[in-house]
Amino acid sequence: MKYDLLIVGGGPAGLAAAIHARARDKSVLVVSNDPLASPLCKAPGMANYPGLPGVSGRELVERMLAQARDLGAEFRQGRALSVMPMGKSVMVSVENDAVEGRAAILALGVSRAAPLKGEAELLGRGVSYCATCDGMFYRGKRVVCAGDAPNFDEEVEFLRSIGCEVAVKRLAGLSILGEDRVTGVRDAQGEETPCDGVFLLRASIAPARLAPGLALEGGYIKVDGRMGTNLPGVYAAGDCTGQPLQLAKAVGQGQSAAHFAVEEMD
Ligand SMILES: Cc1cc2nc3c(=O)[nH]c(=O)nc-3n(C[C@H](O)[C@H](O)[C@H](O)COP(=O)(O)OP(=O)(O)OC[C@H]3O[C@@H](n4cnc5c(N)ncnc54)[C@H](O)[C@@H]3O)c2cc1C
Repeated sequence: MKYDLLIVGGGPAGLAAAIHARARDKSVLVVSNDPLASPLCKAPGMANYPGLPGVSGRELVERMLAQARDLGAEFRQGRALSVMPMGKSVMVSVENDAVEGRAAILALGVSRAAPLKGEAELLGRGVSYCATCDGMFYRGKRVVCAGDAPNFDEEVEFLRSIGCEVAVKRLAGLSILGEDRVTGVRDAQGEETPCDGVFLLRASIAPARLAPGLALEGGYIKVDGRMGTNLPGVYAAGDCTGQPLQLAKAVGQGQSAAHFAVEEMD
Protein backbone atom coordinates (compact mmCIF):
# COMPACT_ATOMS: atom_id res chain seq x y z
CA MET A 1 0.00 0.00 0.00
CA LYS A 2 1.19 3.51 -0.81
CA TYR A 3 0.42 5.93 2.06
CA ASP A 4 -0.18 9.62 1.52
CA LEU A 5 2.24 10.43 4.30
CA LEU A 6 5.03 8.54 6.01
CA ILE A 7 6.21 10.04 9.29
CA VAL A 8 9.53 8.92 10.71
CA GLY A 9 9.57 9.44 14.48
CA GLY A 10 6.68 9.15 16.90
CA GLY A 11 7.57 11.98 19.28
CA PRO A 12 5.49 15.16 19.69
CA ALA A 13 6.46 16.52 16.24
CA GLY A 14 5.61 13.28 14.42
CA LEU A 15 2.38 12.77 16.36
CA ALA A 16 1.22 16.34 15.75
CA ALA A 17 1.89 15.79 12.04
CA ALA A 18 -0.06 12.52 12.09
CA ILE A 19 -3.03 14.16 13.86
CA HIS A 20 -3.15 17.02 11.36
CA ALA A 21 -2.82 14.78 8.29
CA ARG A 22 -5.57 12.44 9.52
CA ALA A 23 -7.81 15.43 10.20
CA ARG A 24 -7.28 16.23 6.49
CA ASP A 25 -8.25 12.61 5.68
CA LYS A 26 -4.83 11.54 4.43
CA SER A 27 -3.56 8.01 5.02
CA VAL A 28 -0.68 8.09 7.48
CA LEU A 29 1.92 5.61 8.65
CA VAL A 30 4.14 6.57 11.59
CA VAL A 31 7.39 4.59 11.64
CA SER A 32 9.04 4.87 15.03
CA ASN A 33 10.89 3.28 17.86
CA ASP A 34 8.50 2.81 20.79
CA PRO A 35 7.31 6.41 21.46
CA LEU A 36 6.87 5.57 25.15
CA ALA A 37 10.55 4.63 25.43
CA SER A 38 11.69 8.17 24.55
CA PRO A 39 13.62 10.17 27.20
CA LEU A 40 10.77 12.69 27.23
CA CYS A 41 8.57 10.05 28.90
CA LYS A 42 10.83 10.18 31.95
CA ALA A 43 10.16 13.90 32.50
CA PRO A 44 8.00 14.23 35.63
CA GLY A 45 6.36 17.53 34.77
CA MET A 46 6.49 20.15 32.03
CA ALA A 47 6.12 23.72 33.22
CA ASN A 48 5.94 25.46 29.86
CA TYR A 49 3.59 23.48 27.65
CA PRO A 50 0.66 25.78 26.92
CA GLY A 51 -2.62 24.74 28.47
CA LEU A 52 -1.28 21.71 30.33
CA PRO A 53 1.05 23.05 33.06
CA GLY A 54 2.78 20.26 34.96
CA VAL A 55 1.76 17.51 32.57
CA SER A 56 4.24 14.62 32.65
CA GLY A 57 6.12 13.70 29.50
CA ARG A 58 4.56 10.25 29.49
CA GLU A 59 1.02 11.49 29.84
CA LEU A 60 1.50 13.98 27.03
CA VAL A 61 2.89 11.34 24.65
CA GLU A 62 0.19 8.83 25.66
CA ARG A 63 -2.53 11.39 24.93
CA MET A 64 -1.03 12.35 21.57
CA LEU A 65 -0.66 8.68 20.62
CA ALA A 66 -4.27 7.94 21.56
CA GLN A 67 -5.49 10.95 19.58
CA ALA A 68 -3.49 9.95 16.49
CA ARG A 69 -4.71 6.34 16.73
CA ASP A 70 -8.33 7.35 17.28
CA LEU A 71 -8.13 9.48 14.15
CA GLY A 72 -6.88 6.47 12.18
CA ALA A 73 -3.12 6.93 11.94
CA GLU A 74 -1.29 3.63 11.52
CA PHE A 75 1.88 2.78 13.40
CA ARG A 76 4.83 0.60 12.55
CA GLN A 77 7.28 0.04 15.40
CA GLY A 78 10.91 -0.24 14.30
CA ARG A 79 13.96 1.73 13.23
CA ALA A 80 13.87 3.52 9.92
CA LEU A 81 17.17 2.85 8.19
CA SER A 82 16.87 4.90 5.03
CA VAL A 83 14.66 7.52 3.43
CA MET A 84 14.86 7.80 -0.34
CA PRO A 85 12.83 9.99 -2.73
CA MET A 86 12.00 8.04 -5.92
CA GLY A 87 10.05 10.00 -8.53
CA LYS A 88 6.60 10.72 -7.08
CA SER A 89 7.22 8.52 -4.02
CA VAL A 90 9.37 8.48 -0.94
CA MET A 91 10.57 5.05 0.17
CA VAL A 92 11.42 4.40 3.81
CA SER A 93 13.15 1.19 4.81
CA VAL A 94 12.15 -0.16 8.20
CA GLU A 95 14.48 -2.87 9.50
CA ASN A 96 14.43 -5.28 6.52
CA ASP A 97 11.20 -4.08 4.92
CA ALA A 98 10.22 -0.99 2.90
CA VAL A 99 7.17 1.28 2.95
CA GLU A 100 6.09 3.85 0.36
CA GLY A 101 4.47 7.26 0.70
CA ARG A 102 3.64 10.24 -1.48
CA ALA A 103 5.63 12.38 0.97
CA ALA A 104 7.56 11.88 4.19
CA ILE A 105 8.14 13.94 7.32
CA LEU A 106 11.32 13.42 9.31
CA ALA A 107 10.54 13.96 13.00
CA LEU A 108 13.60 12.24 14.38
CA GLY A 109 14.37 14.25 17.47
CA VAL A 110 18.08 14.73 18.08
CA SER A 111 20.60 12.01 17.58
CA ARG A 112 22.72 12.03 20.72
CA ALA A 113 25.34 9.64 19.37
CA ALA A 114 28.46 11.05 17.74
CA PRO A 115 29.72 8.98 14.80
CA LEU A 116 32.47 6.54 15.71
CA LYS A 117 35.99 6.78 14.38
CA GLY A 118 36.06 4.76 11.15
CA GLU A 119 32.25 4.52 10.89
CA ALA A 120 31.72 6.74 7.82
CA GLU A 121 34.79 5.41 6.00
CA LEU A 122 33.86 1.73 6.45
CA LEU A 123 30.08 1.97 6.09
CA GLY A 124 29.03 -0.81 3.68
CA ARG A 125 32.50 -2.33 3.95
CA GLY A 126 31.92 -4.17 7.19
CA VAL A 127 29.91 -1.53 9.06
CA SER A 128 26.15 -2.11 9.07
CA TYR A 129 23.17 -0.63 10.93
CA CYS A 130 20.86 -3.66 10.68
CA ALA A 131 21.61 -7.26 11.62
CA THR A 132 18.48 -8.78 10.12
CA CYS A 133 19.21 -6.94 6.82
CA ASP A 134 22.92 -7.70 6.39
CA GLY A 135 23.56 -10.56 8.82
CA MET A 136 23.62 -13.25 6.14
CA PHE A 137 26.85 -11.77 4.70
CA TYR A 138 28.53 -12.65 8.00
CA ARG A 139 27.36 -16.25 8.50
CA GLY A 140 29.99 -18.14 10.45
CA LYS A 141 32.12 -15.00 10.87
CA ARG A 142 33.16 -12.84 13.81
CA VAL A 143 31.12 -9.71 14.36
CA VAL A 144 30.91 -6.98 16.98
CA CYS A 145 27.57 -5.44 18.02
CA ALA A 146 27.20 -2.14 19.85
CA GLY A 147 24.26 0.15 20.45
CA ASP A 148 21.12 1.10 22.31
CA ALA A 149 18.41 0.07 19.84
CA PRO A 150 15.26 -1.24 21.52
CA ASN A 151 15.61 -4.50 19.56
CA PHE A 152 19.34 -4.84 20.30
CA ASP A 153 19.02 -8.23 22.04
CA GLU A 154 16.91 -9.70 19.24
CA GLU A 155 19.38 -8.51 16.61
CA VAL A 156 22.26 -10.11 18.53
CA GLU A 157 20.27 -13.31 18.96
CA PHE A 158 19.53 -13.36 15.22
CA LEU A 159 23.24 -13.11 14.37
CA ARG A 160 24.04 -15.94 16.78
CA SER A 161 21.24 -18.05 15.32
CA ILE A 162 22.82 -17.85 11.84
CA GLY A 163 26.22 -18.90 13.20
CA CYS A 164 27.98 -15.58 13.78
CA GLU A 165 30.46 -15.36 16.62
CA VAL A 166 29.19 -12.21 18.35
CA ALA A 167 31.07 -9.92 20.75
CA VAL A 168 29.04 -7.12 22.39
CA LYS A 169 30.79 -3.80 23.06
CA ARG A 170 29.79 -0.42 24.48
CA LEU A 171 29.44 2.33 21.88
CA ALA A 172 31.28 4.92 23.99
CA GLY A 173 34.88 5.31 22.90
CA LEU A 174 34.69 2.54 20.30
CA SER A 175 36.85 2.90 17.15
CA ILE A 176 36.44 0.81 14.03
CA LEU A 177 39.67 -0.51 12.54
CA GLY A 178 40.50 -1.34 8.94
CA GLU A 179 41.52 0.33 5.70
CA ASP A 180 39.44 -1.12 2.83
CA ARG A 181 37.33 -3.37 5.07
CA VAL A 182 36.63 -3.76 8.77
CA THR A 183 39.32 -5.78 10.51
CA GLY A 184 38.39 -5.13 14.13
CA VAL A 185 37.43 -2.64 16.81
CA ARG A 186 39.25 -0.90 19.65
CA ASP A 187 37.29 -0.16 22.81
CA ALA A 188 37.66 2.73 25.26
CA GLN A 189 40.19 0.74 27.31
CA GLY A 190 42.36 0.21 24.20
CA GLU A 191 41.51 -3.49 23.89
CA GLU A 192 41.36 -4.65 20.26
CA THR A 193 38.91 -7.28 19.05
CA PRO A 194 39.42 -8.66 15.53
CA CYS A 195 36.21 -9.08 13.52
CA ASP A 196 34.79 -9.14 9.99
CA GLY A 197 31.78 -6.91 10.63
CA VAL A 198 30.48 -4.29 13.05
CA PHE A 199 26.76 -3.82 13.66
CA LEU A 200 26.00 -0.37 15.07
CA LEU A 201 22.48 -0.87 16.40
CA ARG A 202 21.55 2.62 17.60
CA ALA A 203 18.03 3.75 18.36
CA SER A 204 18.53 6.72 16.04
CA ILE A 205 20.50 7.25 12.88
CA ALA A 206 22.12 10.56 11.96
CA PRO A 207 19.86 12.41 9.47
CA ALA A 208 22.48 12.57 6.69
CA ARG A 209 23.00 8.79 6.95
CA LEU A 210 19.27 8.16 6.96
CA ALA A 211 18.62 10.30 3.89
CA PRO A 212 21.72 10.61 1.69
CA GLY A 213 22.06 14.09 0.19
CA LEU A 214 19.94 15.73 2.91
CA ALA A 215 21.16 19.28 3.53
CA LEU A 216 22.12 20.13 7.11
CA GLU A 217 22.87 23.40 8.86
CA GLY A 218 24.84 23.32 12.10
CA GLY A 219 24.20 19.57 12.34
CA TYR A 220 20.40 19.95 12.09
CA ILE A 221 18.15 19.33 9.08
CA LYS A 222 17.84 22.50 7.00
CA VAL A 223 14.21 23.41 6.30
CA ASP A 224 12.52 26.23 4.40
CA GLY A 225 9.46 28.20 5.53
CA ARG A 226 7.18 25.32 4.49
CA MET A 227 9.20 22.79 6.52
CA GLY A 228 10.54 21.33 3.26
CA THR A 229 14.05 19.91 3.03
CA ASN A 230 16.21 19.98 -0.10
CA LEU A 231 14.95 16.47 -1.00
CA PRO A 232 11.73 16.27 -3.05
CA GLY A 233 8.70 15.22 -1.00
CA VAL A 234 10.70 15.16 2.25
CA TYR A 235 9.77 17.52 5.11
CA ALA A 236 11.20 17.80 8.62
CA ALA A 237 9.88 18.97 11.98
CA GLY A 238 10.79 19.20 15.65
CA ASP A 239 14.12 18.93 17.41
CA CYS A 240 15.83 17.54 14.30
CA THR A 241 15.47 20.97 12.63
CA GLY A 242 17.34 22.80 15.40
CA GLN A 243 16.86 25.18 18.32
CA PRO A 244 14.82 25.67 20.38
CA LEU A 245 14.59 22.01 21.38
CA GLN A 246 11.19 22.46 22.97
CA LEU A 247 7.85 20.72 22.90
CA ALA A 248 5.66 23.55 21.72
CA LYS A 249 7.94 24.27 18.77
CA ALA A 250 8.08 20.55 17.87
CA VAL A 251 4.30 20.27 17.87
CA GLY A 252 3.89 23.47 15.84
CA GLN A 253 6.42 22.40 13.24
CA GLY A 254 4.88 18.92 13.00
CA GLN A 255 1.49 20.46 12.31
CA SER A 256 2.99 22.86 9.73
CA ALA A 257 4.98 20.13 7.96
CA ALA A 258 1.82 18.04 7.57
CA HIS A 259 -0.13 21.10 6.41
CA PHE A 260 2.34 21.93 3.64
CA ALA A 261 2.86 18.28 2.64
CA VAL A 262 -0.91 17.84 2.28
CA GLU A 263 -1.21 21.15 0.39
CA GLU A 264 1.27 19.86 -2.20
CA MET A 265 -0.86 16.72 -2.69
CA ASP A 266 -4.25 18.38 -3.13
C1 LIG B 1 13.86 14.67 30.27
C2 LIG B 1 13.36 15.73 29.31
C3 LIG B 1 12.63 16.79 29.78
C4 LIG B 1 12.16 17.77 28.90
N1 LIG B 1 11.42 18.80 29.38
C5 LIG B 1 10.91 19.72 28.53
C6 LIG B 1 10.07 20.78 29.01
O1 LIG B 1 9.80 20.89 30.21
N2 LIG B 1 9.58 21.66 28.11
C7 LIG B 1 9.84 21.58 26.76
O2 LIG B 1 9.36 22.39 25.98
N3 LIG B 1 10.64 20.58 26.28
C8 LIG B 1 11.18 19.66 27.13
N4 LIG B 1 12.00 18.66 26.64
C9 LIG B 1 12.33 18.66 25.21
C10 LIG B 1 11.22 17.97 24.41
O3 LIG B 1 11.03 16.70 24.92
C11 LIG B 1 11.61 17.90 22.93
O4 LIG B 1 11.77 19.20 22.43
C12 LIG B 1 10.53 17.17 22.12
O5 LIG B 1 10.36 15.85 22.61
C13 LIG B 1 10.91 17.12 20.66
O6 LIG B 1 9.97 16.34 19.97
P1 LIG B 1 10.38 15.59 18.61
O7 LIG B 1 9.15 14.89 18.16
O8 LIG B 1 11.04 16.56 17.69
O9 LIG B 1 11.51 14.55 19.02
P2 LIG B 1 11.50 13.35 20.06
O10 LIG B 1 10.57 13.60 21.20
O11 LIG B 1 12.94 13.11 20.38
O12 LIG B 1 10.90 12.12 19.24
C14 LIG B 1 11.62 11.51 18.18
C15 LIG B 1 11.17 10.06 18.08
O13 LIG B 1 11.66 9.52 16.86
C16 LIG B 1 12.25 8.26 17.10
N5 LIG B 1 13.27 8.02 16.07
C17 LIG B 1 14.39 8.74 15.83
N6 LIG B 1 15.06 8.22 14.80
C18 LIG B 1 14.34 7.14 14.38
C19 LIG B 1 14.54 6.19 13.36
N7 LIG B 1 15.59 6.23 12.53
N8 LIG B 1 13.60 5.22 13.22
C20 LIG B 1 12.51 5.16 14.04
N9 LIG B 1 12.29 6.04 15.02
C21 LIG B 1 13.20 7.02 15.20
C22 LIG B 1 12.85 8.40 18.49
O14 LIG B 1 13.13 7.12 19.07
C23 LIG B 1 11.71 9.16 19.19
O15 LIG B 1 10.70 8.27 19.62
C24 LIG B 1 12.46 17.68 27.52
C25 LIG B 1 13.21 16.59 27.04
C26 LIG B 1 13.66 15.61 27.93
C27 LIG B 1 14.47 14.45 27.40
